[in-house]
Amino acid sequence: MKEERRLREAVVATGIEMERLGFAVAKSGNVSCRIGSGMLITPTALPYAKTRPEDVVLMSLDAGEMPTDATPSSEWRFHAAIYRAQPEADAIVHTHSPHASALSCARRSIPAFHYTVGLAGGTDIRCADYATFGTQELADNVLRALEGRRAVLLANHGVIAFGPTLERALTLASEVESLAQRYLALLSAGLEPVILDEAEMQRVAEQFHRYGRD
Ligand SMILES: [Zn+2]
Repeated sequence: MKEERRLREAVVATGIEMERLGFAVAKSGNVSCRIGSGMLITPTALPYAKTRPEDVVLMSLDAGEMPTDATPSSEWRFHAAIYRAQPEADAIVHTHSPHASALSCARRSIPAFHYTVGLAGGTDIRCADYATFGTQELADNVLRALEGRRAVLLANHGVIAFGPTLERALTLASEVESLAQRYLALLSAGLEPVILDEAEMQRVAEQFHRYGRD
């Protein structure tokens, strides 16, 4: 019970931090973490600053089961789908951070123009195909784009990042935003980025494995 309380508080704190970073204008985005065989997820339509730990919704990962006394974020389907498909995902943040959202509107993936693209787990950060928010179709598109990755862009929408902790998931979402900002700056300057090849990105992945982020 104590652990559940701690996680509820951490979900709210992550939402507030997301807003402070400018990643969640007007209460956009959502946050969740795994707990036992279910998840804790931010409620819909409540500003993070007004969300109390007890407002965070506990729900099963089974799409058929909905809580009767609370309304989870409209995006609960992709959160549940990620936890079911990715055993290493214990926390998920979904942001509408400005530069990554802008890039997502061009439906562009972020190529390996900078080695830290590898932090998301592969040689690029894919842009998941568009589907209406809150739908199973969007959840299916997200899972496809997440293959071998810990972060994706959502077409005409925003970002999803996951990790072993809420802090790591939010840090990865911040990396994605920062990469999108730099990639957009290059494109706006009319410069053609040099893309790191697969062999180099493999070495980058090995270095991340050995040293962590640097
Ligand atoms: Zn959203």
